[in-house]
Amino acid sequence: MRFCSLASGSSGNCYYIEDSGYGILIDAGISPKNIKKRLKEIDVDIKRLYGVLITHNHYDHIASIGSLGEDYNLPVYSTQRILTGINENPKITQKLYQSRRPINAGEAFQIGSLTITAFKVEHDTPECVGYFIETPNSSLFIATDLGQMNETAASFLVKAKNIVIEANYDEEMLLRGNYPLFLKQRILSNSGHMANHITAKCLQQHFQSHWEHIFFCHLSKENNCPEAVLACIKKALDVVSNAQPSLHVLPRTAAIEPIDL
Ligand SMILES: [Zn+2]
Ligand SMILES: [Zn+2]
Repeated sequence: MRFCSLASGSSGNCYYIEDSGYGILIDAGISPKNIKKRLKEIDVDIKRLYGVLITHNHYDHIASIGSLGEDYNLPVYSTQRILTGINENPKITQKLYQSRRPINAGEAFQIGSLTITAFKVEHDTPECVGYFIETPNSSLFIATDLGQMNETAASFLVKAKNIVIEANYDEEMLLRGNYPLFLKQRILSNSGHMANHITAKCLQQHFQSHWEHIFFCHLSKENNCPEAVLACIKKALDVVSNAQPSLHVLPRTAAIEPIDL
């Protein structure tokens, strides 16, 4: 399985996954032009993708989904509720019609050699999912926006070899920062975003020696930095293991070098 983050954070999320020639995107929160350009840099033609999985209907995850679905004819997979939410989002001017592919959380489906299962997570949208993606040789857990880890999500987290998980903010930076109180409260709530120390505690609690790579996604621009994430996570994992998985912080507005998982 090949993984590449094209963008990660509140200015846009988009991740590329490929196995045996079957390439898909998870979320489409940056412009079609940027998606095309960043895919081209890793030798992928947008027209040869097999579909897009959507996690939820916040704009930073769906900005270009209308164009990808209807202009590029890419099948758009998500739960019925999230697909309806996309078309109800007033910022989405190009709605989804023929590209809609409703799926059910908890039911595995196949795109080529990728076996995909959506699982529900707590976030401040009517519905939000993460995805567990398996190939014959590897697996990936991805949850980009979540307020907390629930039992179902955790059952996939412990099975996965590789993990993409949110580390949105450093609690002290958020509390001392300039955000208005209502926004601080939204972020801090159990259906908002994951703080570094909450993600660290969650990984410590569910730690598995088969974990190979952990990617931290959706970092806040104002209330976090890669150094704070890594320091917090390393400290937590040091308690449970000497041999740690490779830790990576995903950049907000640039693509990473693709990595084989
Ligand atoms: Zn988001
Ligand atoms: Zn969100």
